[in-house]
Amino acid sequence: MNDTLLVTGSSRGIGRAIALRLARDGFDIVLHCRQRGDTIEAVAGEIRDLGRNARVLCFDVADREATRDAIERDIEAHGAYYGVICNAGITADGAFPALSDDDWDSVIRTNLDGFYNVVKPLVMPMIRRRAAGRIVVMSSVSGLMGNRGQVNYSAAKAGLHGAVKALAVELAKRKITVNCVAPGLIDTDMTEDSVNGEALKIIPMQRTGTGEEVAATVSFLCSPDASYITRQIIAVNGGIC
Ligand code: NDP
Repeated sequence: MNDTLLVTGSSRGIGRAIALRLARDGFDIVLHCRQRGDTIEAVAGEIRDLGRNARVLCFDVADREATRDAIERDIEAHGAYYGVICNAGITADGAFPALSDDDWDSVIRTNLDGFYNVVKPLVMPMIRRRAAGRIVVMSSVSGLMGNRGQVNYSAAKAGLHGAVKALAVELAKRKITVNCVAPGLIDTDMTEDSVNGEALKIIPMQRTGTGEEVAATVSFLCSPDASYITRQIIAVNGGIC
């Protein structure tokens, strides 16, 4: 059995925490980021130290052709994946009247098109394995509630909810589950400018979350114990609702 999981955007932040947690759980990991460098190689080294296989793919998830080529080549060489964690994402915040075309396009292309670009080339090989599989997509509290200054990001993440729910129905008979995880405010590079007293006031737990706390939920969804959970959006947000 090839129990390999692709984790997109795993050079740092939540994706790195997910990759390390899944390696600890016994999975081999295909790491991914935009450009090869010391950061992603260090994560690969940590995974190999845990006794698991790690290899690195680098491509821009917004670039459909590059994404398809890299994933198809990897599957041809190593076999179909058990699953994927679609985690790579960006923000480009601003009040809507001030949002540039590029802020809109880049956020939709990376967060929403990125899901399509990554999942499309790997899903048929997953189906052909005729075994259980997992697709976990990183959404956000912003996609559930809509955040001020994040019309682009909220649209992209809410779009993922629809895509995940529809794909879950299509793949249910194949034993492949498809779910979203929707974190709240998590301490990473992405949020270094937005963690302040005002932000913490809306979180009942009055603190930011950690990548490891998000990774624990992803780990559960990837485990055999989660075999009957599909088409769900699971919030990990310290009680925001
Ligand atoms: P970080 O900014 O810390 O890390 C982002 C990761 O995504 C990096 O590995 C980065 O690679 C990769 N990435 C970004 N854009 C692209 C692209 N176009 N192509 C390939 N790789 C890309 O983000 P977080 O860890 O905070 O966020 C991870 C996910 O969680 C995102 O989807 C985000 O929307 C979501 N999220 C985060 C929250 C938070 O509070 N932090 C809250 C809710 C959701 P590289 O190193 O090469 O740049």
